[in-house]
Amino acid sequence: MKSFTNTVDGRAVPSARTFESKNPANGEAIGLVPHSEPEQIAQAIASAKAAQPAWAALPDGKRREHLEHVADALKRNATYLAEWVTREQGKPLGGLGPDQVPGALFELAGCEAWTRVPASLELPVETVFEDDGRRYEVHRKPYGVIAAIAPWNWPLLIAIWQIVPALRAGNTVVIKPSEYTSIGTLEMVRIMAEHLPPGVLNSVSGPGEVGAALVDNPQIDKIMFTGSGSTGAKITAIAARHLTPTTMELGGNDAAIVLADADPAAIAMGLFWGAFINMGQTCAAIKRLYVPESLHDAVVDELRKIATTVPMGDGFGAGVVMGPVQNRMQFDKVSRLVEASRRDGGEIVCGGQAREGAGNFYPLTLVTGLADGAALVDEEQFGPVLPIIKYRELEDAIASANRLDVGLGASVWSSDVAQARAVAVRLQAGTVWINQHGAIHPMVPFGGVKGSGWGVEFGAEGLKAVTQPQVISIPK
Ligand code: NAD
Repeated sequence: MKSFTNTVDGRAVPSARTFESKNPANGEAIGLVPHSEPEQIAQAIASAKAAQPAWAALPDGKRREHLEHVADALKRNATYLAEWVTREQGKPLGGLGPDQVPGALFELAGCEAWTRVPASLELPVETVFEDDGRRYEVHRKPYGVIAAIAPWNWPLLIAIWQIVPALRAGNTVVIKPSEYTSIGTLEMVRIMAEHLPPGVLNSVSGPGEVGAALVDNPQIDKIMFTGSGSTGAKITAIAARHLTPTTMELGGNDAAIVLADADPAAIAMGLFWGAFINMGQTCAAIKRLYVPESLHDAVVDELRKIATTVPMGDGFGAGVVMGPVQNRMQFDKVSRLVEASRRDGGEIVCGGQAREGAGNFYPLTLVTGLADGAALVDEEQFGPVLPIIKYRELEDAIASANRLDVGLGASVWSSDVAQARAVAVRLQAGTVWINQHGAIHPMVPFGGVKGSGWGVEFGAEGLKAVTQPQVISIPK
């Protein structure tokens, strides 16, 4: 079986210890991933540290040029990398057209877009105040070395969100992918690094302890973390010891509220993809759907029609729209929450029973009859099961949406955009969509509130997040 390597200082670095990466569609081992040793982690950080001053000192246009070459390389290698995403993460190969599945090729198209857009952005020197005596300029300086730690759901795209703005602003990076989806990211880093000076982009790999060793190093100047709240808390505790700044993109439990004037048939497809994109394994996906009594049965019926006809299977199969759950831990969590919903009085509209076999296939599952407080409503399922909760008064639905300690995304669905907007501004979430859910854009800041984290990514705000302001006070 092929052993994959990390990239450090522009070179391929194997490790004596390795572990298998598995295809979630059939349980087969697909490659060996290096388990980075402590000295290798230190080496990767040292290489990023050594490369940073020269990278930051490059003329702005030069860094932009490097990133344009990186974007071109991502485009050229899109199929190769997308196949790794399907083989390792499970999402169907898919594509980016109106009739295509938002799968692995869609993820790679996102990687290119989220490289080209930050490459094109600038953070010019700003004059924030001047009077007769002085002019005050704000300059944006890179932090230095950024440690990036990524999850397994959109493994390449989320890595790009962490890497590219950091590089654009003159930082260097050491990234650790999830141990469940390392190969695709290690291969992407290898390809990207071919178009960057040695040491500018480095990787390490392994389980959580490798991530902990990476962030627990005084040479790290900022931490970008995307993953669960519990891991985010551990990293924050380490960061506190070193006073290392962090950006935390954590879990959510996004509520969608359907208003009484919505047309169930018209919104069903949007609700469906809002909840089940990537088998529901998406940070900002609909995880609780609140529907007025008057529309409840019609909305459930429309969603059931879609959920029971969507083909599920190995992501390389022709016509496959839904793949497996990425790993057994997540699969068991989905199974547990569906069982809990049965005990909580929920009715399983469709799905609800894991498929036999080696793959992690769990059918798309809709559950009705639950109330706030049920485990499936209150916990982030991060998988292919959606609770649909009836409400009587809109005020109750708004209170329900806001009652949890997380706030990544939310959405409001209505035929009257002005009315939907009035509800949207009352929801506690980093982004609230109207008549869609989860649509992100490289120019638009994205991040959570409450337990969903702090700091934003994307756009000029995201670029600022990987820089520190420096004020220069100039006499006239
Ligand atoms: P996770 O927290 O289990 O793992 C994320 C990463 O952290 C992995 O690379 C893991 O190896 C590493 N890690 C684990 N323990 C560590 C430690 N002690 N120190 C340092 N690193 C450690 O999360 P996951 O299961 O991979 O991802 C799913 C979660 O991520 C969900 O809650 C989801 O909502 C969230 N998520 C959030 C966003 C967002 O933008 N807000 C995006 C995607 C996923």
